[in-house]
Amino acid sequence: MSKYGTVIVLSGPSGVGKSTLVSRVRAAMPGLEFSISCTTRNPRVGEQHGVHYYFLSREEFERRIGNDEFIEHAQVFANRYGTLKSEVLERIRRGRSVVLDIDVQGAMKIRDAAARDPELAAHTVWVFIGPPSVEALEKRLRGRATDSEEQIALRLGTAKHELSFWKKYDYLVINDDLDIAAAEMTGLFRSFELRTANQPEELFS
Ligand code: 5GP
Repeated sequence: MSKYGTVIVLSGPSGVGKSTLVSRVRAAMPGLEFSISCTTRNPRVGEQHGVHYYFLSREEFERRIGNDEFIEHAQVFANRYGTLKSEVLERIRRGRSVVLDIDVQGAMKIRDAAARDPELAAHTVWVFIGPPSVEALEKRLRGRATDSEEQIALRLGTAKHELSFWKKYDYLVINDDLDIAAAEMTGLFRSFELRTANQPEELFS
C-alpha cells in the first residue's frame, strides 16, 4: 500500500520572513523535502550548486525547456527560474512531501499544470505567507540597510503585486509573531498527511 506525499507550493512577498519561517518548519519536520529550483542567476556568496539552486547557463536552461523537464518556469527580475519535474513527482509517489518555494507567477503556473494533470491536481496545495499589514511589510523592507531607495521601491512594488494574489492560494499564514507562524505552518503541513487524497487507494478494501 503506498501513500502519497503532498506538493506544497509556498509563496510570500520579499520581506515577509519566508526563509526564517521555512528554516523553523524544516527543523521541526526533518522528513520534509525541498525542491531545488534551477536558475540562470549567479550564485550569491555561500550558495552552492545542488543545495540552494541548480545554477545553469541560459543555454542549459533552454535545453531543459526543450526537453520538457520543467513543471513550470518563469522570468523573475532579470533571470529565469524553474521547477524540475524530477524534483517533485518521484518524491510524492514515494510518499514524501515536497515544498516548492516559488514566486506567485510560478505558483499560478503550477495551478495551470495541475489543471492538465490529475496526479498533480490531487496532491498539491498552495500556501501563502503574508505580513501582518502592508505597512509592516514596507517597514521590514526598509529595514534592510543594504538596499538603495530605488531597490526598495522596486521590491515594494513587486511585494504589493505579489500580495494581491493571496486569495488564489488555499491557505494563508500571517507572519506577525515568528513562533506562532512557525507553529501554524508546521501544524498545517502535518495535516496534509491526513488528506484522503494521499491515502492508499486500496485502504479498507
Ligand atoms: P532569489 O534569486 O532571491 O533566490 O529568488 C528570486 C525569486 O525567484 C523568489 O521570489 C523565489 O521565490 C523565486 N523562485 C525561486 N525558485 C523558483 C522556481 O523554481 N520557479 C519560479 N517561478 N520562481 C522561483
